[in-house]
Amino acid sequence: MSTVRTAVLETEEHQALRAAVAALGKRYGRDYMTTVIREGSHTHELWAEAAKLGYLGVNLPEEYGGGGGGMAELSIVLEELGAAGSPLLMMIVSPAICGTVIARFGTDEQKRKWLPGLADGTLTMAFGITEPDAGSNSHRITTTARRDGTGPDADWVLTGRKVFVSGVDIADATLIVGRTEDARSGKLKPCLFIVPRDAEGFGRNQIDMELHAPEKQFELVLDDVRLPADALVGDEDAGLLQLFAGLNPERIMTAAFGIGMGRFALGKAVEYARTRQVWKAPIGAHQAIAHPLATAHIDLELSRLMMQKAARLYDDGDDIGAGEAANMAKYAAGEACVKAVDQAVHTLGGNGLTREYGLASLITASRVARIAPVSREMILNYVSHQSLGLPKSY
Ligand SMILES: Cc1cc2nc3c(=O)[nH]c(=O)nc-3n(C[C@H](O)[C@H](O)[C@H](O)COP(=O)(O)OP(=O)(O)OC[C@H]3O[C@@H](n4cnc5c(N)ncnc54)[C@H](O)[C@@H]3O)c2cc1C
Repeated sequence: MSTVRTAVLETEEHQALRAAVAALGKRYGRDYMTTVIREGSHTHELWAEAAKLGYLGVNLPEEYGGGGGGMAELSIVLEELGAAGSPLLMMIVSPAICGTVIARFGTDEQKRKWLPGLADGTLTMAFGITEPDAGSNSHRITTTARRDGTGPDADWVLTGRKVFVSGVDIADATLIVGRTEDARSGKLKPCLFIVPRDAEGFGRNQIDMELHAPEKQFELVLDDVRLPADALVGDEDAGLLQLFAGLNPERIMTAAFGIGMGRFALGKAVEYARTRQVWKAPIGAHQAIAHPLATAHIDLELSRLMMQKAARLYDDGDDIGAGEAANMAKYAAGEACVKAVDQAVHTLGGNGLTREYGLASLITASRVARIAPVSREMILNYVSHQSLGLPKSY
């Protein structure tokens, strides 16, 4: 398959980064991932090596050990690892959401404590917003933080439940979205708290997922978790703004995850279609096989264009403009990924379902890009309301 030609949109440095990450991905690849999944272990080696090469912290500020780049660079890293068959899901969470939020809104002490470790891979942070009764409707979250005492140094006490939080077992801490009560209006407003993995009252149960991935998902119970005053990230009164600063990178990175996986599956299918021969010509000569693969390629390329637009807007500081583009990129990439994987499996016939070819498990994995972190329908709702000005049904 053709390599990614993006000279118009990407600098020489970006292209060099793509090539270098692709080379790293090739050394690990799908076989490595399959072994990790089968053994129930983690991608520690790949994570550490990617970090050592500066890829995980490429978006974080240089003064804290990062590469000084942005989402344009970080999305390239995740896409290329995914295209090699070994995506690192926790990149969406640790450097992209948590690293960004702390870099933009954390105190100097929080930055010193977390950013160098997030950049060099020695620290990992998970992110928890979803709750059992508040999935797509994050306005409905009920995890509540109250001050125990008065004054700025009073502890916080967090109570609530979260669900589907990825990687809590390997993360040193989880950035939890809770709510605090506004002293004047009594209204609950969103706020972000860093909860260490071993905090008392912070319980986790692994969810039994039918998903073949090294990263596990957890239900969390926060039972009066006591945190120091400085566990709060940023300003109590600007929580929503800070939250959105982290959610746009999450959508851009999920797009990269989807495009990478779609490219991996498409590559396998094209390779197979070129050589598999059951009549006179290889199956790839039949348009019934070739055209859906061509469509999948076009859809993935288009998704990347939107992802690059979103990353550019975000890196240029346009949070509002990036919001629409990031949602559209994540929608397009999620759909392109699901379709590419589906067509790839079909192209291989019976072999599409064998362990040897390793594509069938991607059918489930590709659905993650459609469901999380915001579902296909919620993005269509966003575009209907925000972009087109249509009325809401809910
Ligand atoms: C593998 C995986 C990893 C995840 N990792 C994390 C993580 O690290 N941290 C975290 O906080 N969360 C995580 N999530 C959770 C994820 O963000 C949620 O699953 C997602 O937001 C959808 O929420 P829900 O599952 O509660 O679905 P629901 O909100 O119950 O939605 C169910 C269905 O109804 C549809 N729907 C709901 N409301 C509307 C509406 N108004 N109009 C039209 N359709 C609607 C949805 O599109 C969806 O198809 C993860 C999920 C998965 C699968």
